Amino acid sequence: MTGDGIFFVLVGPSGAGKNTLIERVREFTPDMTQVPTMTTRGRRGNEQEGREHRFVTRERFQQAIDNGELVEWQRVHNDDLYGTPRDVVETAVALGTDLIADIEFLGAEKLREAFPQHTVLAFVTPSDLRILADRIMQRGDITPEELAGRLNRARFEMTFAPECKYLVINDTREAAAEALRGIVATERSQRHNQAIDPAERVPAHRIDATCTAVIQRGDDLLLRDGKLPQFRLNPHGARFDLAARDHLESLLGTPLEVIGPQDDRFDYPAPSYVTVTGAAPHFSLNYYYRFIFPAGDQSTPLGWEWAPLSSVQLPDMLSELVTS
Ligand code: 5GP
Repeated sequence: MTGDGIFFVLVGPSGAGKNTLIERVREFTPDMTQVPTMTTRGRRGNEQEGREHRFVTRERFQQAIDNGELVEWQRVHNDDLYGTPRDVVETAVALGTDLIADIEFLGAEKLREAFPQHTVLAFVTPSDLRILADRIMQRGDITPEELAGRLNRARFEMTFAPECKYLVINDTREAAAEALRGIVATERSQRHNQAIDPAERVPAHRIDATCTAVIQRGDDLLLRDGKLPQFRLNPHGARFDLAARDHLESLLGTPLEVIGPQDDRFDYPAPSYVTVTGAAPHFSLNYYYRFIFPAGDQSTPLGWEWAPLSSVQLPDMLSELVTS
């Protein structure tokens, strides 16, 4: 595709604050257009038809799929469908207009495949799943089942972070907006030859993924050197916990069952908990995966030790899962 428009795609769990960030970006970049994605969900509060979304019926959405009007589409929450209109992206890219959108990660991946030269993925997340849970609850109007569903979805979504070019930690709105401003300025200076203060230039981020293995047998956890075992995942490893399991099984010499949120769209369970540390351009994501040691195997692998659950410090949300 010709043209030099940039398509900034913000990815990240629900509650990460992507929409507020889009509003802020558009304040300092008025010539950037928000992509109105097509959706079957109803219009909310102060949303405008054609700004955040094109609100359509299921029949119209199906027609758009059949006619190839959407670059990608997904079922997101509550069975509502969302899709990116091809005409908006192709026209903007060709005209050199920059776009921004909030797209869930399966769709974002397809956009990058469809427009590899134009799509810039930035992952937006708070530094801790706990902050996300608190924010979703503060929005109110949410049942415990909906909250659980969103958090499970977030756990899957977080595994996509290492595959994005940038990571924006959104614990405070101002810092996140500032980080995104630097990213936008950097990409624009490269693509459109716009002048940029060298101090503002942001290199592509390095996002390392670590697995912390919570290996449980009844009321005990398996430790090495007094700590939960940790190892680096390969760059795309956060989504392939089975590789993590294979690694652990070979270390321990015993089969392990990995448990975590399941979703029929994914053939692997999600991590149970995720934290983000570091600062641009180098971040570390820590994925806590839960494993069950065979109950009938009373052995202690050489170099490891069993410790009672109550003696091991775990993040609250994880502790609740492990002890329930
Ligand atoms: P909301 O209903 O809050 O506007 O959007 C729900 C979620 O749908 C957002 O978190 C966003 O990531 C996702 N979404 C919005 N538009 C699209 C789209 O066109 N394609 C995909 N795959 N996801 C979308």
